[in-house]
Order: sequence, then C-alpha cells, then structure tokens
Amino acid sequence: MGFTDSSLEPACLPQSDPANVAPPRRVLTFASEVEYLARCMLDCPDRETGGDCFGFWTHTGCPAIQYVIGPGPEARGTATFFTQDRGFLKACGDLLIHEYGLQHIGEWHSHHRLGLARPSGHDSDTVRRAMIGYGLGRFFLIIGTLGDAAPQLNGFLYERGPRPRPDEVEWMLLPGLSPYRERIGGRLDGWNYSPATPPGSVPANRLRLLRSVVAAKPEFKRHHWLNAEVGQQELRFYYDWIRDRCPGAEIRLGRDETVRILFELEDQPAALVYPPDYPAAGFFFVSQDQVVGPPLDFPAFVPPAGAASPLAQAPPLPPQAGPAD
Ligand SMILES: [Zn+2]
Repeated sequence: MGFTDSSLEPACLPQSDPANVAPPRRVLTFASEVEYLARCMLDCPDRETGGDCFGFWTHTGCPAIQYVIGPGPEARGTATFFTQDRGFLKACGDLLIHEYGLQHIGEWHSHHRLGLARPSGHDSDTVRRAMIGYGLGRFFLIIGTLGDAAPQLNGFLYERGPRPRPDEVEWMLLPGLSPYRERIGGRLDGWNYSPATPPGSVPANRLRLLRSVVAAKPEFKRHHWLNAEVGQQELRFYYDWIRDRCPGAEIRLGRDETVRILFELEDQPAALVYPPDYPAAGFFFVSQDQVVGPPLDFPAFVPPAGAASPLAQAPPLPPQAGPAD
C-alpha cells in the first residue's frame, strides 16, 4: 500500500525501538516561504518583527507551512518584543481559510541580532495561553535570528499535554515556490507586508535552518522529471486541479522518488502516481490498491509556450472508473 511510503513523514524514519524512540518532529515548507520570512527579518536588523504561518498538519502532527505572512500595518516591534496586528491577522486568516483552506498553524518572530535562538519564557507562555484560549491541540513557533552571516530560523512545536518544553523540529524544505504563494499571487498586495529586502537576497540554501535535514530534503537524481521547471509546473497544475475538488489533497515524495498526489475519491484514499522514471513510464491513478482510470474530466497539462523540456506528456490511462458525478 503506497500511502504510507513517504520520506516526508517522520513516522517512516528508522526507529530502533519504537517504544522508546520518539520520531523526530519536522516542519515541511517551501523555499519561497522561508525566503520571504528571511527578507522580512533583514528589513528589521535592530528590532523584532514577525508574522504568521498558514497550512495544515500532516498525519503525524507535523506542520506543513504553505504560506507565510509578515507584520500587519498595526504590528508593533521593539528590540525585545513583537506584537502582531490582530485585525490584519484575522483578515488574512479569514481569506486563507475560506478561499484556500489554509489554517493558521503557527507564528514567527525575530529575536534581534543579539537575541536568543529559542523562545523566551514569555514566548512560550503566550503560545500556551493562545492554545488554551483557542482550543488548539498544537501550534508552531519560528524564532529567527540575524547573525553576522545568514539569517537563522529555528522551529518549535508546542503540543497540549504535560510536556513543559516545545519540541525543536527538523526542517524539510521543498524547492521553489509554494503553490499557494503562486496562486494567491497579488491578492494580498498592498495588504500583506512587502519586504524592502529584494527577492533573491537570501536564497534558501544560504539560510541557516537549525536542525536542518538538508541531506534528506528532496534531491532528485540528475534526470528526475521534477528537476525540470516544466515538471514542477505540471505537478502544480495537477495538484491544483485535484485540490480544487479534494481540499485535503497533498503531495508526497517516496524514498524511491515516486511522487504521489494523495486525495480522496468517493471517501476512499486515492492517488495520482508519478513513477520515478516518468515520463518514460506514464503516471497513473490508484484507488483501494487498484490501478484505475483518471477522472472523466481529467485535463491534459499543456506546457507553457516555449518551455524547453525533456519531458514528453505521458498519456493517462483511458477512462475506466472515474468518480461518479
Ligand atoms: Zn521572542
């Protein structure tokens, strides 16, 4: 069964004794989101700044950040604290949950140049009070610091229960642009914070991500189809299409470099599967462990004009068992 075969899920990591060894906690996000956050931080080297993280939780309770916002117009930051603009956060949150299905799963703030790389006692008290107040089972906090070199980001996962300290998480960065940043596009322009630090100033590979699992981030074989921009465009195209119909859809990368878009088809788990040697081998759909045909209205991806690509469009299987209308 393919649905648990994913290197993104900490539960799949080696566990010498599952009874005693808790799997590491991870945050999954896109390079575009940490770059945005780092640019916000670089705008404010001498005072704290911050914002919020939107996305969802994985099966094992790890945050998957899809979209990051910065400080609102009424946010306040000094050398020792940051307070978000609550009205701005609520307005962003309403739009992101109701139109994109993204939950408010965490927040971030910088500790200025000399600050701690961990949450202060006040930070943890604030998060725990908010979790109780809003009835949240877990919440994610990013603390950013600016060293002499590159910005550093540290992630902490708070969970309800007796544990006094948050878990420090490992980072797993997916390359490129979050599909939501692309999709939301200019809708928050003039509203969400636009960093003065220009794009490209802090490429994700220069950020210091505490406990980064760089070695485990998706690094495809040289000829893997997702190395090509048009391959990423195709994946985004189908992910968006599926997610429009199944809001809980998610992308998984298997250890063998199989890429799956997981979703539900008639209340059963289903997946669009890209084998590692795509497009030499075509993609296909599975549902209830059976290969099935694509949905009847499944669109063909058309590469952008002029896209130089080694990829040929792999024909989907002929329709057999599309979802009932
Ligand atoms: Zn703090």
